Amino acid sequence: MKRVAVVGAGWSGLACALELAHRGQAVALFDAAPQAGGRARAVGIRLGDREFMLDNGQHLLIGAYTETLRAMAAVGVHIDRALLRLPFEIRYPDGFLLRAPRLPAPLHLAAGLLSAAGLSWTGRRHALASVMRWRRQHWRLTDDVPASTLFAGAPDDIVRRVWRPLCLAALNVEPSDASGQILLNVLRDSLAGGAHSADLLIPRLDLTRAFVAAALERLLASGAELRLRSAVQGLARSDGRWRIDSRGGALAVDSVVLALPPDRAAQLLVTGQRHELATTVEALQSIAMAPIATVYLRYPPTVRLPWPACALLDDAAGGRHGQWVFDRGQLDEENAGVLSVVISAAQSALSAGTKPLEAQIAAQLRTDLGLPAPLASTTVAERRATIVPVPGLKRPPTRLALPSLYLAGDAAAGDYPSTIEGSVRAGVAAARALHADTRVG
Ligand SMILES: Cc1cc2nc3c(=O)[nH]c(=O)nc-3n(C[C@H](O)[C@H](O)[C@H](O)COP(=O)(O)OP(=O)(O)OC[C@H]3O[C@@H](n4cnc5c(N)ncnc54)[C@H](O)[C@@H]3O)c2cc1C
Repeated sequence: MKRVAVVGAGWSGLACALELAHRGQAVALFDAAPQAGGRARAVGIRLGDREFMLDNGQHLLIGAYTETLRAMAAVGVHIDRALLRLPFEIRYPDGFLLRAPRLPAPLHLAAGLLSAAGLSWTGRRHALASVMRWRRQHWRLTDDVPASTLFAGAPDDIVRRVWRPLCLAALNVEPSDASGQILLNVLRDSLAGGAHSADLLIPRLDLTRAFVAAALERLLASGAELRLRSAVQGLARSDGRWRIDSRGGALAVDSVVLALPPDRAAQLLVTGQRHELATTVEALQSIAMAPIATVYLRYPPTVRLPWPACALLDDAAGGRHGQWVFDRGQLDEENAGVLSVVISAAQSALSAGTKPLEAQIAAQLRTDLGLPAPLASTTVAERRATIVPVPGLKRPPTRLALPSLYLAGDAAAGDYPSTIEGSVRAGVAAARALHADTRVG
């Protein structure tokens, strides 16, 4: 049986390894870290006198994450136990509410805009006209432009309360830095997809329990080899096979899938010293990363928000950095009193240090939601959380320029931003390409 090495056990590598194992391939899965899950996994977070199992950053999924939901279900995860499903809504504590009822697109958005609370009529009309125009253009731009260009001329309230927050949540950069096309791809699949595509899916369980642990269990049961704490340091081609050098020694395999962040994939490809890969390495090295900060705050267990989650109006210059707040206690009783506040594109929020940031977030929650002072708080700052989706972003293709070498992860070409779904899709695409090539070869 042919042997495949999947390098990187984040959601992309796991999805790829599962797909390969399902198709009968012998898989060896490597990860440098002591645990799988990469950028979407559980971590122990100390808040005062207790440690909570939370995530390395608050994540939000949407109904359009079809491959992710399929992969979760395939390893036996009970989706409704793992994720809280809510109809699409953007709600602010001051009473603003845009909620799309579960009607076929674009009726759900039209109904949502008509019934929105706190939105100007010019804002509603402009939003609906924009969506209808993008739909007529089949969600395609002839030339990619910054996402901010898509909202040119839109009333301030719709930009500030709807388009910019959606861009930050999905692409993790300001609209002026974001690819308009990648944002339209997400809006196409969510706002114009099936009746449930725009649903918000908030993890109830931590992300390791929601997928990673079940994926590993399924892989081990199917005979896959799992090598954690095994950073792959070298990759060389000889005699028609690949040699993988890791801390655990050398391993010869027939095919390799790199499911790594772009900089790590580039580092590894350079070790092979193959001129055929120069363009790929250059493309990977040109990809920049953007940070996300999650501030976790612990209140007495009786403190509850009126909703499981809501948006917050941010204003970095005024020290209001929080963009979304989630009530972890409404998702899992174990975490009663714990709130998570998300800050996308978090460069400026993190510049003054995490303690001042936590104090600012606590003040923002006091002002907006009338909360008392928290008992404890801590920040998870992921400085390399997602790739920056610049307009015209060039990501290398799944099949690289040498035989039996494939790229997955958010570094690989695809029409999604750097998200769980983008990574899972890239992992599945690499597995399918490899399987097809193996059958032909
Ligand atoms: C704080 C935060 C919040 C986010 N919020 C959202 C969200 O709300 N919704 C959403 O969809 N997405 C979100 N994302 C993005 C999402 O988590 C990532 O896009 C996704 O997890 C990336 O998965 P991946 O498998 O491609 O890469 P990774 O998770 O980075 O996996 C790569 C793996 O490779 C390993 N590795 C690195 N070098 C080597 C080596 N040399 N040898 C072996 N192994 C190696 C790493 O240890 C890692 O486990 C967020 C990310 C962060 C950090």
